[in-house]
Amino acid sequence: MSTSRAANRPIDRISTAPAFTEADADALNSRFTGASTQELLGSVLREGLVGRVAVVSSFGAESAVLLHLVASIAPATPVLFLDTRRHFPETLAYRDLLIERLGLTGVLNLTPDAAVLEARDASNLRWSYDPDGCCEIRKVVPLAGALAHFDASITGRKGFQSDTRAGLPRFEIDHADTAGRLKVNPLADWNSDDIAAYFATHDLPAHPLVAQGYPSIGCSPCTSKVAPGEDPRAGRWRGWDKTECGIHVPGQDDTEGDLPPEFDPVF
Ligand code: SF4
Repeated sequence: MSTSRAANRPIDRISTAPAFTEADADALNSRFTGASTQELLGSVLREGLVGRVAVVSSFGAESAVLLHLVASIAPATPVLFLDTRRHFPETLAYRDLLIERLGLTGVLNLTPDAAVLEARDASNLRWSYDPDGCCEIRKVVPLAGALAHFDASITGRKGFQSDTRAGLPRFEIDHADTAGRLKVNPLADWNSDDIAAYFATHDLPAHPLVAQGYPSIGCSPCTSKVAPGEDPRAGRWRGWDKTECGIHVPGQDDTEGDLPPEFDPVF
């Protein structure tokens, strides 16, 4: 190629700017002040307000509400399920039941890398001495890879679930990386009565472990029953100074011990 032709060639520019900023999240929170959850989800799922979106779901105790709302608007929406290989069999059966009952056609099972598991958790016991490392292998890394294809994720988190989730906004920036991906929490202001009423109104099936005393359900080794009056998430990683799995970090402080900085878990 001659020098003159090269000089005339358009310069490829790759934008490295984050997709969304804190100002964008603030503006979206203002825009949807007073709007219903269905209105918000309609704009996100039907009108593509925030680009390519995926739901991140644990198919846990309250997941059916968000999944029903999403299925009512756009049943082919991608739904990312972190199949950590450590779930209760009841959770896997419940996932399959909800897929069929709600007509979800976009559920994707995200599994840990087999070679990484063999190298770092061949015994399947890393959860017992290094839960942060276990969550990183089985949740954080698989989810990060999947979310790289999306502009925003939708979570089922609620502000009432724990002290660390109080004041949760409906829109926030996902600080897991520098992409500036948006995290949408359409149920942020729902309370436990709202959840129960939605289950009843729409005759949604309950996760089979709820009746056995598990109001919050994650992987089987790290989930225990919760006594009356306890924080609903008190049964998660009981005995550890750990409240989230590395997909959602409360606030911006490092309360996750050895978790990678800025990782913000979902479940
Ligand atoms: S919740 Fe427990 S078993 Fe599941 S990935 Fe995290 S540490 Fe491992």
